[in-house]
Amino acid sequence: MATPNALTSRKRRLHLAKPFWAATKHISAPSIPTPSARSWDVIIVGAGISGALMAEALTRKNRRVLIVDRRVPVRGSSIASTAMIQHEIDVPLHHLARRMGADAARTWRRSVRAVQDLQDLVARLGIACDMQAKQALYLTGDEMGHRAMRSEFEARQNADIACDYLDQAELMQRFGIDRSAAILSGTSASANPGQLTAGLLSVAQARGAEIASPVEITDLAETGDSAALATREGGVLTAEQVVFCTGYEFLPVMESRAHRITSTWALASRPRIARPDWLDRSLVWEASEPYLYFRSARDGRIIAGGEDMDDPEAYRDPARLHAKARRIALKLRNLCGIEIGSPAYVWAAPFGNTSDGLPIIDRVPGFSCAHAVMGFGGNGITFSMIAAQIIAARLSDKRDPDEELFAFR
Ligand SMILES: Cc1cc2nc3c(=O)[nH]c(=O)nc-3n(C[C@H](O)[C@H](O)[C@H](O)COP(=O)(O)OP(=O)(O)OC[C@H]3O[C@@H](n4cnc5c(N)ncnc54)[C@H](O)[C@@H]3O)c2cc1C
Repeated sequence: MATPNALTSRKRRLHLAKPFWAATKHISAPSIPTPSARSWDVIIVGAGISGALMAEALTRKNRRVLIVDRRVPVRGSSIASTAMIQHEIDVPLHHLARRMGADAARTWRRSVRAVQDLQDLVARLGIACDMQAKQALYLTGDEMGHRAMRSEFEARQNADIACDYLDQAELMQRFGIDRSAAILSGTSASANPGQLTAGLLSVAQARGAEIASPVEITDLAETGDSAALATREGGVLTAEQVVFCTGYEFLPVMESRAHRITSTWALASRPRIARPDWLDRSLVWEASEPYLYFRSARDGRIIAGGEDMDDPEAYRDPARLHAKARRIALKLRNLCGIEIGSPAYVWAAPFGNTSDGLPIIDRVPGFSCAHAVMGFGGNGITFSMIAAQIIAARLSDKRDPDEELFAFR
């Protein structure tokens, strides 16, 4: 079935060492080794958070859905995520506005809506995944001082995105943090990303979706008005539509200078760490390069990450793992006095960034029945929610008004 656009997503190690969530309960979704049928309405490639949200949205519209994954479901990047569910896009709104004009405010507003929609969806479906509504504290750092933070605050206000500006004195008084300014926003959340993904997959399965694993897709071709997928096992699967939710193992045809893979590190402390009261209601991140971000989990662990490096292979080096964790722990102590001691879990992973901080949610170039979701960045989970909404609308012959904001670049 080779075509000029023959495809397979590059395989890479998606985490070094065991992420904390891999040790928690209810993170699995049952799968079968071979699909029960060859032909489907929609085949979703990838059983991570993007594939799970997609499967939920499409089965809600009564589509016959097959999800395939070359790994055990829920064992890709999603299980390595620190799962700070934010509407704040990595590229500040006042910077994005210089590139996109008024569309920048639209992308930010869509991101706010997606976080609200995700929390509503989880509540409606009764998914137990420790979803907790939180506020987000964005601190000045070496990339943005108090004047730029003020411009960012004004840009958000002009875009009708609710937030408060905290000056140095107020930040110190309310949070005990010594930085020149911060923006405090609502509409954020945190969750156990493994339980969230597994819970959504289980809802889709209850509506008739199948998960087949391990099944690796090695090629894609279009025949008339349907798509055919070759599997490494030598089979062919067909569907009216295919959605690639393959995370950081994207298709070669989606390669672009607009996005790149980097390396990142994360840790989870032991439970019941002494911490300020506000932390259990907050996500914290900073405008620095590399940046520190952290939150607590319900059992009083600190989940923190950062120390990113541009080198896409650096995360594979075991020698860096503990040095990076020590650095994250030190930054945490220096910023707000939290002592985590020796972390219980430390892991490293590839991470994706786009130059504009936005995901790519579009047809695979050269194909009409194949779509790709590339939810890059620190708010990848929020982007996965937007992707499910846009593609579910498109597959029902409706047009999402924001779809062109996330086109292939
Ligand atoms: C350390 C770390 C911290 C992060 N923190 C946050 C955060 O705080 N907040 C946030 O919103 N986001 C965060 N992210 C980003 C977020 O985790 C990702 O955007 C998200 O998990 C991507 O989900 P996915 O379903 O697209 O990918 P994955 O979970 O990787 O799922 C893709 C699946 O596709 C399968 N696959 C790939 N190719 C094929 C093929 N050819 N055939 C069959 N199967 C295939 C893979 O096996 C994999 O299971 C973080 C990421 C990392 C690594």
